[in-house]
Amino acid sequence: MMSCKPFLVCGILALGFQCLDAAQAPAGSTEAAIPVDREPRHRVAVADERLRVLEVRIPAHDTTLNHRHDHDLATVNIENGPTRTWSTPDGWGGVRTREVGGVNVTEYTGQASAHIVQTMSDKAYRLTGVENLKNSGWTTHGPIEGQYLAVVAETRAFRAYEMRLPPAVTMAHTHAVPVVVTLVDGSVTAGPAGAAALTESGQWTIAPPEVQHRVQAGPAGARIVEIEVR
Ligand SMILES: [Zn+2]
Repeated sequence: MMSCKPFLVCGILALGFQCLDAAQAPAGSTEAAIPVDREPRHRVAVADERLRVLEVRIPAHDTTLNHRHDHDLATVNIENGPTRTWSTPDGWGGVRTREVGGVNVTEYTGQASAHIVQTMSDKAYRLTGVENLKNSGWTTHGPIEGQYLAVVAETRAFRAYEMRLPPAVTMAHTHAVPVVVTLVDGSVTAGPAGAAALTESGQWTIAPPEVQHRVQAGPAGARIVEIEVR
């Protein structure tokens, strides 16, 4: 039994509350963790040889399994219930609240890392996640340019743009790499022929490389995030 009573344990760890935290933390390590695609709150919606799209939804007051990320990951926050994260050797980190529509990018390729995520309120935590499955050889094309868009994150594996389109405005451009387009707010029609209508926060579509794609905002405008998978 791990417990905080004896000085044997707490004396070694020096601080009683650390000891309590350690005793409550689930056992786990990167080796013991399951891959992210087997964690039930991370749904692999699409996968090909270059990328995977993960629909992440952690309900309120819920805790994920200990899971491992093996590939560089970019996420767009859709629902921002506060969370905390447990990992070895640090244990539980502080509570974090992300900004809705904010982009977070982590480099896991070649440095896999495992963690547990816990929601800390009555609010769920929801993300659209994009994994770049390349182990090396990421492309180095420059960014697209245009009105209404800004680069908000850039790493070896991704470049993310935030686009805030006024009502009914259409943008057309071509990316050198595949792009995951996620709706944060408003509505858009996105894509080449057979365009996808995105009307709910978190809906997404993939635009293929080297093909001009159009994004047309709906009557209330649109806030979208485009993630290039480099
Ligand atoms: Zn685009």
